[in-house]
Amino acid sequence: MIEFKNVSKTFSLGKREVHAVKDVSLSVEKGEIFGIIGFSGAGKSTLLRLVNMLERPSSGSVFIQDIDVNTLSPKDLRTQRRNIGMIFQNFNLLNSRTVAGNIAYPLKLTSISKQEVNRRVKELLEFVGLSDKAKDYPDQLSGGQKQRVGIARALATSPDILLCDEATSALDPDTTADILRLLKKVNRDFGITILLITHEMHVIQTICDKVAVMENGEVIESGDVFDTFTNPQHSVTQRFIRSVQ
Ligand code: ATP
Ligand code: MG
Repeated sequence: MIEFKNVSKTFSLGKREVHAVKDVSLSVEKGEIFGIIGFSGAGKSTLLRLVNMLERPSSGSVFIQDIDVNTLSPKDLRTQRRNIGMIFQNFNLLNSRTVAGNIAYPLKLTSISKQEVNRRVKELLEFVGLSDKAKDYPDQLSGGQKQRVGIARALATSPDILLCDEATSALDPDTTADILRLLKKVNRDFGITILLITHEMHVIQTICDKVAVMENGEVIESGDVFDTFTNPQHSVTQRFIRSVQ
């Protein structure tokens, strides 16, 4: 479904080069919830941004459904981007629009009729449990409610893939558990493949099937969550395990 083949990403800062992602090869299968864990600066967000082409690899390739995303025409790129939803730590909602307006926003650039947009928004509001908040504005909502809107907006174009960048890091433990349950439902009900990044071990343990551990731009360990954490090979992985014991 998503395949990284020897992907590297280097940023030039004046004369200095930052190797944000180094020679990463990973396969995420359809329908999986795949977690990437690492400390700050490990390269997690950069890796995620390579999937929806917010960044281009310096070398190597990212394949989605067997197509090298670097070879897509601008038109196919727009189509592919609608196939990938994304949610963020800080929700990134438009404060000047209502909840319904935020969810409808990604459908604006499509040929879907107004009636169909309204039907879809209603359906998504029900799915995330916010039917009574359609006319509210983001600043009237709690963090958990804002992330529910973020999830509904990400699902508006019926994507096959959902990318989550620290989606629960700004939330308290109970609200985090609610959002993780909702993400599990997104995965189960719609078969959406989820690639999530986090620095919280319990997030991986709660919903992920597979995990990759990143440090200094590299994937240092990856596999089934259970196998990786019962038999950790690397000291960074061991540190994450100790963090929840
Ligand atoms: P965090 O947990 O703090 O979000 P992260 O694992 O997501 O960290 P990245 O944001 O991917 O890490 O950053 C990896 C490295 O690449 C860091 O050293 C960062 O400073 C650098 N970096 C990321 N984006 C850019 C950019 N646009 N320009 C220059 N350097 C960048
Ligand atoms: Mg990040």
